[in-house]
Amino acid sequence: MPALPPSESGDHAQALAALDATFSGALTGLDLADIAASPDPTLVVDGDLLIRGYNQAYIDFAHANGLPAIEANFGVGTSLLAAFSEPARALYAQAYRNALDRQEVFHQSCECSSPSEYREYLLSAYPIAKGIGLLLCHHLVAADPIPMSERRARSPEHLSPNDLIVQCCHCREVRNFQHENRWDWVPDLIKQMPTNVSHTFCPRCLDHYYPDLGEKRSRSRWGLSKGRRSNHPRAPMRGLRSFR
Ligand SMILES: [Zn+2]
Repeated sequence: MPALPPSESGDHAQALAALDATFSGALTGLDLADIAASPDPTLVVDGDLLIRGYNQAYIDFAHANGLPAIEANFGVGTSLLAAFSEPARALYAQAYRNALDRQEVFHQSCECSSPSEYREYLLSAYPIAKGIGLLLCHHLVAADPIPMSERRARSPEHLSPNDLIVQCCHCREVRNFQHENRWDWVPDLIKQMPTNVSHTFCPRCLDHYYPDLGEKRSRSRWGLSKGRRSNHPRAPMRGLRSFR
């Protein structure tokens, strides 16, 4: 990216859909106009993983994916990690901490499908300004229609005893509490994200992305033995791979 002149004011802030003016100086050297115009949902976080800015694609992606209140719930000043529950929160916190401390780019493939289309994104977290923050870019790398046979209607079976919907933060499938180890693809819950949702990993994603943790947790929480996968109705992670 071509370098920009040092920022002395909030001029850079105007390039993005939102940017904390007190943080704009940290973005010297980045082509904010290019980031602003990118179709890749992109956001800037500081060393405490508080959101400091984002481009229009970040807003558009959220609005198109059931999160109309993205600017209120995950706008400037909010914690990036607030979107996750454990164990995802701790895992991402550590990965981002490592990227900041080691000045290394963190890559992770992410499944973030629309109600009708399987989509794979590559998340890249670039350290900026010698570790003062991260630039998080989400780039679409694959898309494929989801067969009708794999789609499920929303039902009370998707509610936990505490009336929570438990959704995998990678594949966005939701846990079916009436069938052990079953996770469903429920388009209605993608079209409009409910307020009573909690994010975690489904056993399959946990095994795929974090095999050490997945094996340990599968045995203790989901009763899966080593190497065994859940009876998830969807196809296995088509083409997904970890870039870590
Ligand atoms: Zn999953």
